[in-house]
Amino acid sequence: MSRYAGRVVIVTGAARGIGAGTAKRFAEEGASVAVLDLDEGSAAETAAGLGAERAIGVACDVSDAAAVDAAVTRVVEELGRLDVLVNNAGITRDNLLFKMTEDDWDLVMNVHLKGAFLMSKAAQKHMTQAKYGKILNLSSVSALGNRGQANYSAAKMGVQGFTRTLALELGPFGINVNAIAPGFIVTEMTDATAARLKMEPEQLRQLNAEANPVRRVGYPEDIAAAAAFLCSDEASYITGQTLYVDGGAKV
Ligand code: NAP
Repeated sequence: MSRYAGRVVIVTGAARGIGAGTAKRFAEEGASVAVLDLDEGSAAETAAGLGAERAIGVACDVSDAAAVDAAVTRVVEELGRLDVLVNNAGITRDNLLFKMTEDDWDLVMNVHLKGAFLMSKAAQKHMTQAKYGKILNLSSVSALGNRGQANYSAAKMGVQGFTRTLALELGPFGINVNAIAPGFIVTEMTDATAARLKMEPEQLRQLNAEANPVRRVGYPEDIAAAAAFLCSDEASYITGQTLYVDGGAKV
């Protein structure tokens, strides 16, 4: 498939995990891809492995306004345009409310919410000029509530409100804005959750698979497939939506 031939896609937090899987899918469908992540070396390494005709790795902390502006400018200079932005970068700082620190709260809000805000603001300048664009935000089933994740849950529900509002504001400029809310996806993020729960990663995966209606866990490719559809022109009448990609299990 070459639904993305001639298109330029940015995926944030794409050195590994869901971001890397999503970047790979866009590359396979013909896009030029910019892999943004905290560490330029890891971003460049992932970009080189995508098999894309053109792919670059760019260092960018999405919670830093100057870094975001510089990264988006560089992508447009080097790859020529910007059609799709996937706001994927994320972190967790889990703790029960009484133990959660102000830093745990601020860090999570800054990466997920401020990061999506700064990246979308920088990207829309190019997209509104071109009267074309797709923005996809990563929410989570945790938006519906998850013990130990007051910060993350609030940020991920915030992402859904942000998505609906951008869809209203940017729709008239030819820009679609949607969100994906993944369930349990096998990445270093869920392996870290296993470690916190004093479990082996495989043990936590098995528990989640058993509790899931489709009796398996998710993989980055599951999210990538949904992302490639939602950002395509086949989905141009879909905007402001959050698609749960979770095997039917809401937390
Ligand atoms: P991951 O494996 O931990 O990867 C996250 C990536 O984001 C890492 O490469 C990380 O870089 C990068 N990152 C962190 N802070 C950043 C920042 N300030 N600026 C730029 N990049 C940053 O996580 P994942 O599981 O793939 O999750 C991807 C997204 O899906 C997140 O938004 C997450 O909340 C969401 N999600 C995941 C799951 C799941 O089950 N895995 C479920 C629901 C939603 P470093 O390695 O340098 O820290």
